[in-house]
Amino acid sequence: MNPYSRQSINQDDIQAVIEALQSDLITQGKQVEAFEQELAQYLGVKYALVFNSATSALFSVYRAIGVQDCEVITTPLSFVATSNMLLENGARPVFCDIKIDGNIDEKKIPSLITSKTKAIVSVDYAGKSVEVEEIQRIAKDYGVMFISDSSHSMGGEYRGKKIGNLADASVFSFHALKPITTGEGGALATNCEEIYQKARLVRSHGVIKKALWNSDVLQSGFNFRMNDFSASLGRSQLKRLDLFIAQREKIAQYYDQIFANHPCFDILLIPSHIKSSRHLYPIFLKQKYWCAKESIFSLMQKSGLGVQVHYKPIHLLSLYRPFVQSPLYNTERFYNAEISIPCHQMMSMEDAQKTAEVILEIFSKI
Ligand SMILES: *Cc1c(COP(=O)(O)O)cnc(C)c1O
Repeated sequence: MNPYSRQSINQDDIQAVIEALQSDLITQGKQVEAFEQELAQYLGVKYALVFNSATSALFSVYRAIGVQDCEVITTPLSFVATSNMLLENGARPVFCDIKIDGNIDEKKIPSLITSKTKAIVSVDYAGKSVEVEEIQRIAKDYGVMFISDSSHSMGGEYRGKKIGNLADASVFSFHALKPITTGEGGALATNCEEIYQKARLVRSHGVIKKALWNSDVLQSGFNFRMNDFSASLGRSQLKRLDLFIAQREKIAQYYDQIFANHPCFDILLIPSHIKSSRHLYPIFLKQKYWCAKESIFSLMQKSGLGVQVHYKPIHLLSLYRPFVQSPLYNTERFYNAEISIPCHQMMSMEDAQKTAEVILEIFSKI
């Protein structure tokens, strides 16, 4: 089975982890610090903080900006953690409908803003940046924060600037299937010292070190820390991030060419001002095939394609039903249409050709 995404672990990665395991400090030691510095440098931000997951990084940034009893405008088309961590912080998610590319529809944001709105949280669906300038402008005009869940898009760019340096704070995931991996892990990137300091306290018990044995605690916190061997793996992976993206881009461009103007489905086009990380390669069934999605998906699986659907919209999950004010038509249409097909750095062009052939074959029979 060729999965929709797959980690790439080479001998350098393995060696890096072994070396970290052989050092004196295997929890937060030199590797974590070095990884944070290298991330900040790669992304071009002042501060990078690493966590044991993107979920805990999201929790910490929401806590740092203070969303308790506030409304936060977010996308229903994400992994549920984007919204779950809002609930865990006592905020009310307000779902904004999406555009055909799967990203939050910035034109629909202003009508959702109230006196209680604290922030806009967007997701760079499939690795393609949101329209950053539009969201920045809305955030500024209405005095709300712009937080980016960039779990899909590490290494991507918007108008030549790296994702991670465009919102008030950005979150990345290092889960095995994300653009680079530390096994489990995540990061927060920001230019704001206050967000950085506050999130750092949430990450580790709220403890402030004073001198020698003396420390103090002014707020409670968690243990959301990354360990040193994960950080060491992350450092090794970061060196290959651009290569990973280049390979995914090659496969994606090949698919774009083969699948252009297909009568049964559409593809996601990337405009020239955006560099996608190509975390996912989604295809969108034309409306008359929506009712056949289950059988098409099953046929793909039976043919060895590890397809997936990203995502069942959050507002359709039982937990979130009470938060839905009005129907989100575009999101539901997107869900009816979308299937993610294999596109990852472990695939050769031959694998991509085979995958495309299987897909064309399946569609030729329906
Ligand atoms: C994967 C993902 C997360 C959660 O990441 P973890 O590192 O598994 O906690 C959050 N948001 C989005 C958009 C994701 O894709």
